[in-house]
Amino acid sequence: MPSASLPEALRAAERWLLPGACLACGGGVGPADPLFCPACQGRWRALPEPQCGRCGQPTALLASGCRICAAWPDGLGRARSAVWLDDAARQAVHALKYDGWRRVAPLLARRMAPLVPKHGGVTLVPIPLAAARERRRGYNQAGVLAGALAEAAGLPVAPDWLRRTRDTRTQTALTPEARRANIAGAFSVAAPLRGARVVLVDDVFTTGATLVEAAVTLLEAGAGAVEAVTFARARPPLG
Ligand SMILES: [Zn+2]
Ligand SMILES: [Zn+2]
Repeated sequence: MPSASLPEALRAAERWLLPGACLACGGGVGPADPLFCPACQGRWRALPEPQCGRCGQPTALLASGCRICAAWPDGLGRARSAVWLDDAARQAVHALKYDGWRRVAPLLARRMAPLVPKHGGVTLVPIPLAAARERRRGYNQAGVLAGALAEAAGLPVAPDWLRRTRDTRTQTALTPEARRANIAGAFSVAAPLRGARVVLVDDVFTTGATLVEAAVTLLEAGAGAVEAVTFARARPPLG
């Protein structure tokens, strides 16, 4: 790993250029799998079928009916996640989000590509970060992911349709109700969407509160239908 004393920009450049070793196990990696070896990618566990037709939650975890998506707006039709947010997948998300490893995005997008709608006319829209946070990080991880997914799935991406109007405090420790209140009104749309079919892209699905708020904003701005796809999904609490 580069020394912490190197300027951030130089570290970022090195991360872009160096082939390196698997970030998880230190084993060999090739050009097709630049940051995580195939064995470690194999530990990114796909969500099992069958799933709630709407929110994608595996039905084995649902007692009766699905409460996750019961209150979703009509226009938010379907959300899917590729893998569980277990330790192995969390390492990949962390690499993308906090460690500047943008090159991990195509590996994640490869797992997400089968989940995007096959019908034409859809546009990928990443969940935006607040401008100040994006400046600090240097990029929006969902935007990088959406770009990689656009390439993998052959779909257009519109990184500017949705904007963050304000930053929201980190949602990790909040209850589902508090998350909804925290995120309410956090997005705006740049221009009328005139019936556009949107697929929202984000790195992690936790409670769905962020995706719902983004979907409501898009639908109010004229989107005809909204779906969502994330790389990982947090396992629901037991009980
Ligand atoms: Zn590995
Ligand atoms: Zn559901």
